Amino acid sequence: MQKHDPIAEFARITPSAQIATATHGWRAKCLQRLVRLDLPVPKSVALPASTVRAIAAGHGVEVQGILDHFGDGPLISVRPSPANPDWGGPATILNIGMNAKRHARLAETHGEAAADALYLRFVQAYAIHVARLDPDVFDGLKPGPGALKEALRDYEVETDEPFPQDPARQLAEVLRSMARAWEGTSARLLRQAKGAPDEAALGLVVQEMAQGIGQGISGSGVIQFVDPVTGQPQITGRYLGQSQGRDALKTTEALYLTHDPRGPSLEDVAPDLFATLVEYGATCRTRLREEMQIEFTIEDGRLAVLDAVKVPRSARAGLRIAVALAEDGIIPKDEAVLRVEPRALSELLHHQVDPRGPRDVIARGIAASPGAATGILVFSSAAAQAAAARGEACILVRRETAPEDIRGMHSAAAVLTERGGMTSHAAVIARGLGLPCVVGASDLRLDARDRKLTAPDGRVFREGDVVTLDGSKGEALAGAAEMLPPALDDSFRRLLAWADEVRDIGVRANADTPADAETARKFEAEGIGLCRTEHMFFDEDRLVVMREMIFADAPGDRAAALARLLPMQRADFVQLFEIMQGLPVCIRLFDPPLHEFLPQTREGLRELAEALDRPLSEVTRRAEALTEVNPMLGMRGVRLGVVLPEIYDMQAQAIFEATLESARRGAPVVPEIMIPLVSARREVELVKTRIDALAAMVRTRAGAGFDYKLGVMVETPRAALRAGEIAQHAAFLSFGTNDLTQMTYGLSRDDAGRFMNTYVRQGVFPEDPFHMLDVDGVGELLLIGAERGRRTRKDLTLSICGEHGGNPESIDFCRRAGFDYVSCSPYRVPMARLAAAHLAL
Ligand code: PEP
Ligand code: MG
Repeated sequence: MQKHDPIAEFARITPSAQIATATHGWRAKCLQRLVRLDLPVPKSVALPASTVRAIAAGHGVEVQGILDHFGDGPLISVRPSPANPDWGGPATILNIGMNAKRHARLAETHGEAAADALYLRFVQAYAIHVARLDPDVFDGLKPGPGALKEALRDYEVETDEPFPQDPARQLAEVLRSMARAWEGTSARLLRQAKGAPDEAALGLVVQEMAQGIGQGISGSGVIQFVDPVTGQPQITGRYLGQSQGRDALKTTEALYLTHDPRGPSLEDVAPDLFATLVEYGATCRTRLREEMQIEFTIEDGRLAVLDAVKVPRSARAGLRIAVALAEDGIIPKDEAVLRVEPRALSELLHHQVDPRGPRDVIARGIAASPGAATGILVFSSAAAQAAAARGEACILVRRETAPEDIRGMHSAAAVLTERGGMTSHAAVIARGLGLPCVVGASDLRLDARDRKLTAPDGRVFREGDVVTLDGSKGEALAGAAEMLPPALDDSFRRLLAWADEVRDIGVRANADTPADAETARKFEAEGIGLCRTEHMFFDEDRLVVMREMIFADAPGDRAAALARLLPMQRADFVQLFEIMQGLPVCIRLFDPPLHEFLPQTREGLRELAEALDRPLSEVTRRAEALTEVNPMLGMRGVRLGVVLPEIYDMQAQAIFEATLESARRGAPVVPEIMIPLVSARREVELVKTRIDALAAMVRTRAGAGFDYKLGVMVETPRAALRAGEIAQHAAFLSFGTNDLTQMTYGLSRDDAGRFMNTYVRQGVFPEDPFHMLDVDGVGELLLIGAERGRRTRKDLTLSICGEHGGNPESIDFCRRAGFDYVSCSPYRVPMARLAAAHLAL
């Protein structure tokens, strides 16, 4: 076998050394920065990734040069230094160089016990990480004077050789084992899961030990200057006398630096050293432009800084830290914007299960709407409403939800369904309401009649039992979990204002009700991009009139029912326009199949027969006649507008009259009217003719003018393909990517949840296409539609209003395709604003 040449390349970490993150890793670079700040960093050298790789490949290690750098005396440590701290790395090894001779010397200066402890620690670390002995070997070891001897003996028994005494050999073996550990399969998989590329390399840092043990004040610890959960300025940390490494973090008897009622803090014991540490923190913050956690050691009253890492932080702390740094002029505003991950924002808008608390998971499903809530279990919308009336928070559990559950959902604190996917009814409504929601929890056994559910592990939960639903993680938890409140504070608003200054695509909200519109305003949406008007018809009083309208078989009866709906709709729109104060409002005409408004149970049908004063048999027959085999592809959307035009007429009249009313109240609007589920130009022509005529009628009657825009929702593949001719009659096209995805794949948005996991796991789809826009297929239809539409009409406004509208990836796609705006659930507006800013920077 060929003998490799020994490798000896390393760099001393000095202010002027050639050290870069890419070659020597983040730790080496960070230490150099600390050295440049004049902090007391112990002597260190950095081995570049090329050296470490060569060592792993079998090159010998020429360590004498490294050891010469430290001279004869100090022990040394080796620490991992990958390019990114998140990628982990092999365990740090401390106290290299420890042997019988040094032990004797240390025993004289520091006492027998301290010398034993250090040597024992090194023997154990070396045995486990370098000689690869099973940690169990030291299980029987009793702390005390004999432990060191016993450990040395165990080592010899297991390896058939005495513990190595030569520091050069010790160091060479440590370097070799760390280099190889990095190449191991489990380390590779672990770091790849954290986003490391295949070729991610490891640098190593060799550092002189600052002991943390001694006669005077000695110990080690960490200190940080902000609270890692809230990001508020607050000094916390841990310090443990006569300790080293991360001992202080492991022990429960750590002496807290401050704010700990249990005992004297470092601040009490050594106020000067404490003040110096605080000064170092401030220096790091301004010069490294980051909130750092400092790892330090004190040896006989001398302070050493071993390391500094970014303070680990929650999403809310991350945002607060970035904004505070920008406000203090340490980083530019744009950089603060870029430092906050858009997806992390959803954590701030809702209550969250506190990650530090215990979790007793009952069931898992699809995380359909973020946030968390605790409440009693209820199994029907009626029970949810009853609970809300008693002022009791409840979690509504259904097999799946239907439009008639809307009021129950309004009353619930969270919703759990056994079936469904990302765009099922429950998921869409819950996101709109900002309710935590988990759908497709198919491992649950739900027994709505006996009002109980059985978890996969056999536990049974009944109506009234307290559970917590975590819609961010897609889990139901037993009992009341510990919670963190939402964090819509000043920092949040300021960061988003900075984001708005740079983004170049609009962000509107999908909002159906005044409450949604208020939320949209709160999150500073630039208008409503989709108002699904059918959601206005589910309130008890309206539902009855709606059903009368559906049951009318004579045109006169239908006209009478619609005449009663007209003022209600008009009032809805007046209210929406008022809340939106002149911002654009895009109203979609009635879309769902009519039978969705009919009762689903026999009891409901009986009540309806009573309300309509018709025989039950007739009501049942009519309901059956409206039933369709495939309602999502049936009489819905513009097809209703063509076949039963009176419904759209009523809606258009309500919109125009509300427009006039708003102008009278001093808040003029230009309403946008949108026709759903179009597949042919002629459909648009037919609807447009009637709407234009209605506008003329309202204008004449009122003796006042107004403007409006008419547009088309592109949610069938044919509408995308024929966008060129459709755009002749449309001022705008809005892509409804929920239906467009459903129809492009021929995949039911309500049933796909059942097999979606398998499909994604087997790599058929890279992601759930209802969740992540399929840019290859559906995306191509978007591009075709946009291009053909704009060829007909240069000033055609383009947007997306399906659930994808809030996804950073979809926003990127739409922005590149030249869209004017995206529209998404109100609760996703902040994320969309920030994501759009990231794309523009
Ligand atoms: C769509 O289909 O993308 C859409 C926005 O409409 P809905 O979800 O109401 O069908
Ligand atoms: Mg649709």
